[in-house]
Amino acid sequence: MPFTVQGIPVVSRKHPVSKKYVPEGLSKRGLVKAADAALTEMTKAAKKDGVTIKLRSAYRSYATQETIFNRALKTYPSVEKAKRYNAEPGNSEHQTGLAADLWDGNTWGDAVARTKIGKWLWKHAPEYGWILRYPPDGKEEITGYIYEPWHYRYIGKEAAAAFEPNTTLTLEEYLGIDGTAENQ
Ligand SMILES: [Zn+2]
Repeated sequence: MPFTVQGIPVVSRKHPVSKKYVPEGLSKRGLVKAADAALTEMTKAAKKDGVTIKLRSAYRSYATQETIFNRALKTYPSVEKAKRYNAEPGNSEHQTGLAADLWDGNTWGDAVARTKIGKWLWKHAPEYGWILRYPPDGKEEITGYIYEPWHYRYIGKEAAAAFEPNTTLTLEEYLGIDGTAENQ
């Protein structure tokens, strides 16, 4: 089981999840039931505002994370860089079925922040129980990950109510925990 605080599972560099962990009840698109329903609700709401949310990636098994990380080790000039931009196996919350990479099907990377969907999500996602998991403005020090304008995390509406539109509040700050791990 992942490390859990106030009923919210937290997977990070500080709190990796075991190789064997597979969430129960994953939907076809790789989300746990509540997250899947909340994404459907959010997608419908966005559509009303003329924004089409597309899911690029959700559940990632430990084995998939391993493949991605090993590829990154070959691509990046140093192990540090590879670790900065990629989760080591077990460190990705995609393994929980509670994370979704969202985009418009066209613009990827940092530029997602400037797209209609990137802007809409940062403002509205908390209304549907989703939060921007890796915000900008120096929050890398807290989450352990650089700004990812596409990566959203389902925490439920109750908890997400503490997240203002366009906030840079992190899940770690909200829960009062540390996300980085210097010992890795
Ligand atoms: Zn992601």
